[in-house]
Amino acid sequence: MSASPATDELRERLGLIADVQAAAALLAWDQETYMPPGAIEARAAQLTTLARIAHEELVAERVGELLEAAASEAEGEPYESDAASLVRVAQRDRDRATRLPADLVARLARAASLGQQAWQKARQESNFAAFRPHLETLVELTLEKAETLGYEADVYDPLLDEFEPGMTTAQLRPLFAMLRERLVPIVQSLTEPGAGGGAGENGGSAGATSTSIGGAGAAAGPNAVAAAGPLRQRFDDRGQWEFGLEVMRDFGFDFARGRQDRSAHPFSTAFATTDVRLTTRIHEDFLPAGLFGSMHECGHGLYEQGVAPELERTPLAGGASLGVHESQSRLWEILVGRSRPFWRHYYPRLQARFPEQLGAVDREDFYRAINTVAPTLIRVEADEVTYNLHIMLRFELEIGLLEGGISVPELPAAWNAGMESYLGIVSGNDAEGVLQDIHWSMGAIGYFPTYTLGNVMSAQIFAGARRAIPDLDDRTAAGDFADLHAWLRDKVYRHGRKLTSPELLERLGCGPLSAEPWLEHIRAKYGELYGVELP
Ligand code: ZN
Repeated sequence: MSASPATDELRERLGLIADVQAAAALLAWDQETYMPPGAIEARAAQLTTLARIAHEELVAERVGELLEAAASEAEGEPYESDAASLVRVAQRDRDRATRLPADLVARLARAASLGQQAWQKARQESNFAAFRPHLETLVELTLEKAETLGYEADVYDPLLDEFEPGMTTAQLRPLFAMLRERLVPIVQSLTEPGAGGGAGENGGSAGATSTSIGGAGAAAGPNAVAAAGPLRQRFDDRGQWEFGLEVMRDFGFDFARGRQDRSAHPFSTAFATTDVRLTTRIHEDFLPAGLFGSMHECGHGLYEQGVAPELERTPLAGGASLGVHESQSRLWEILVGRSRPFWRHYYPRLQARFPEQLGAVDREDFYRAINTVAPTLIRVEADEVTYNLHIMLRFELEIGLLEGGISVPELPAAWNAGMESYLGIVSGNDAEGVLQDIHWSMGAIGYFPTYTLGNVMSAQIFAGARRAIPDLDDRTAAGDFADLHAWLRDKVYRHGRKLTSPELLERLGCGPLSAEPWLEHIRAKYGELYGVELP
């Protein structure tokens, strides 16, 4: 007989829920990749059914009893043990699921569904007024959700907690305040005329096209060649696809336990640690979209493949939080993939695939082209320096909406004022301004900060890897990522959801959360690249 019967039964019940969720994730992946468009309503019904089954199974009374019994069985076990972690994390998930009444969940789902439809149309027509009543409803319901979930200090806390467990608004405020103070002058010095160019390409990871604003006439200085755009030539799809696969294999992605397909918006998902799906999109006239998009999603995929196998079919499988997940995608995409050592190894290989396009472009010019800084109106096209300013604006607006400092009708003006003060540019219309992101229309308020947390944590974690692997740059320059991958697997991936992001940073010896390592990375990299002393 088992020494822990309640834990065993609990694992079985949670395993069923994990299976249902994995089936739903597979259907959702299929919807974005291969599903014929006519299936949309049938698919929505199937996904709703699976979500309902998973919810009912989790809030079932028996699961509550089992959690209590399993908690006493796990008493005395270490905090990070499988048994103690399982109870802790499953309890957290169940608490959240039971605290929100079905009626509120249904009203939120309906408002989000209507909101998304209205947002799509409003964005097409660049008409905020058409989306405004929907956003007002969504903000009201989000406030009701926050009140229902409860909080001690900030109304934003229970919303943030959904995406970044353990993180608080009180931790975010000084982080963003510091980024504002330090980053705005850095962007100014990098983009003022004569600061080394800054026109043209920006190569944001998810950027289909690059909007070049205010830099077109400033192509003087060390970036002049880069600005001419070696990235904007015709690179055939097949060559790009194969080069991406080569890099991903070298990073350590296991194609026996995962695959890459195509979708309009790149994403990654996992149905098991042995079945991780990545998607990418390739633009034949703009190299960075597919190139860095694949590296980015590969970072997410390495995380999912690296979760300890014994956590399979439990709520402990998966990433610690959206922020930690994003830290892993950004680490591989940017700190590795946009670095000089990386291209020492891979540039000759890329040139060999595209001799006509890149044969006459030297490595340094290519490196400058993929690391050009230029303020853009659109977040997903932003370079790594300006990106967090886009997030900071959204964080401040969300706080304003929830605390009452900003009303929904005032939002477009507040948006433009923020863009002007942080990035020095303002859009002429709502589509490129306040309507550009899908998040608010889905009711996903509290999500945006995880992007900045990801960037900031990526630098903290990478600094840890550097300390552990002193010759990291030499290995990268040899295309050898085995030690980096092994270190990340040991320190981050294998724990799955056992630790929250603050706990993980602390265990890594990186914590607490700090933007200093990221700012140091920005100052060193771009000060050198642009030949300026950055503040
Ligand atoms: Zn990502």
